[in-house]
Amino acid sequence: MPAKILCGKSIAASIQEEIRVETAGFTRQTGVVPVLAAVLVGDDPASQVYVRNKQRACQRVGIDSRLIRLPGSTGTAELLEVVHQLNADDQVSGILVQLPLPRGIDPLAVLDAIDPRKDIDGFHAENVGLMLQGRPRFLPCTPLGILQILHRSNLPVSGKQVCIIGRSDIVGKPLAAMLMQRSGPFGKPYANATVTVCHSQTDDLAGIAAGADLLVAAIGQPEFVTADMVRPGATVIDVGINRVGSKLVGDVDYAGVSQVAGAITPVPGGVGPLTVTMLLSNTLRAARNNAGI
Ligand code: NAD
Repeated sequence: MPAKILCGKSIAASIQEEIRVETAGFTRQTGVVPVLAAVLVGDDPASQVYVRNKQRACQRVGIDSRLIRLPGSTGTAELLEVVHQLNADDQVSGILVQLPLPRGIDPLAVLDAIDPRKDIDGFHAENVGLMLQGRPRFLPCTPLGILQILHRSNLPVSGKQVCIIGRSDIVGKPLAAMLMQRSGPFGKPYANATVTVCHSQTDDLAGIAAGADLLVAAIGQPEFVTADMVRPGATVIDVGINRVGSKLVGDVDYAGVSQVAGAITPVPGGVGPLTVTMLLSNTLRAARNNAGI
């Protein structure tokens, strides 16, 4: 039987409607309109699309967005100055510096400079530490979006074998940390997993993947995961976004794997819309924290 399609697009649309209603209530109560400030350095085409999508999403839910565009020749000191100004601006609820940054700018220096209370991506070392200790301030958007897909599709992970392929700071590592907690944003059923993280140096990756109840691919290699690497009935979450010719494809061979898996996210329309939506949710959270409610 072909896999159930986990439609991130429609899950994201219903969460955005919830955020719109919540934001309107917050603004009525406080007089404050949450503001997301996005900093875009250089002219990377994919980054421009991502930032535009984030701004449009803000508009849909009643969050103001500001875009600070800087040329690719910007140096670290200049960028840090912009971040400091946004930190000091009381109207700004959340700050996002779009990654990757041009060569020559130290991304960790920039992430360190963002006020952790405005760090809506959840990448600041303080927020990473709080997440690891199980008392998060902001959870990173892509892993949180994946948990939302599982939660809203009624696919609990407690006690399950999870294999995550990819150990990046923005997807693989934080997702592993979140899934192994005793509890999480959606309670105990969406935590307490037994997690294995695979990467480019893993021996027998295919064998480990094939033992998983939940397989997450966050690698950046088109159609890397094939049907033989998937346990029949497993849930497969495809985080990858790869441009192949004029097509966007994931890290999973969708045609083959969807014949074996129990449930699968498509690309596009799977994890991507949730990442943007969780950024909105974190911005509202930042505004609430700032207002003390
Ligand atoms: P990254 O490029 O920072 O890291 C890739 C990871 O994959 C590394 O940990 C590496 O060890 C592992 N890897 C690479 N080749 C491998 C191989 N042959 N075998 C096993 N492991 C291998 O990754 P990232 O930033 O997490 O992004 C991964 C993919 O997810 C990209 O396609 C990216 O565009 C996409 N992405 C999508 C979203 C979304 O919202 N849908 C968000 C973030 C990233």
